[in-house]
Amino acid sequence: MNHIAYISVGSNLKDRIHNCKNAIDQISLFSKILLSSSFYETESWGYEDKNLFINSVIKIETTLSPSQLLNNLQLIEQKYGRIKNINNNYEARIIDLDILFFDKIILNSNDLVIPHMHLYDRNFVLIPFNEIDPEFLCPSRKLKIFKLLQICQDKSKVYISTLSS
Ligand code: ADP
Ligand code: MG
Repeated sequence: MNHIAYISVGSNLKDRIHNCKNAIDQISLFSKILLSSSFYETESWGYEDKNLFINSVIKIETTLSPSQLLNNLQLIEQKYGRIKNINNNYEARIIDLDILFFDKIILNSNDLVIPHMHLYDRNFVLIPFNEIDPEFLCPSRKLKIFKLLQICQDKSKVYISTLSS
């Protein structure tokens, strides 16, 4: 069965746009990319870092289950490397792939929470999402993306990147 999922793609190390494009290419090997937002440059969130984040949101169609999709995304993260920091949840990373929504499901397991728990307070997720699908209705909050963006308290700067890879 085909499912629709939205994924947040982020990088703040090395060639950040290249890393994001590469991750999307890897995702396209096991799912169909239906929509992808522009690449946005974003102030780091949760910790101080001189490297700005590049973020985008993609919409995919997949036959994978939520846990299979998470496994595949984690394999991509591991393959392209993450700088682990056991003292801090927030860390420089070559690529960060989060499942934002998966069909209309609401899931709360140990290793997978859908809708993604930080979705509502990160405008670096809501702004790219709003570009590709402002009318998407969040199954949990029962609000559309454009409305979630309007009420989001995060006021950090997020703008379309002028960088090219
Ligand atoms: P963040 O993406 O919030 O900055 P991490 O990528 O370091 O943080 O978090 C990774 C952990 O989050 C993984 O171990 C994964 O099991 C868990 N997780 C829970 N829900 C999700 C989700 N919807 N998408 C991706 N990872 C998730
Ligand atoms: Mg993540």
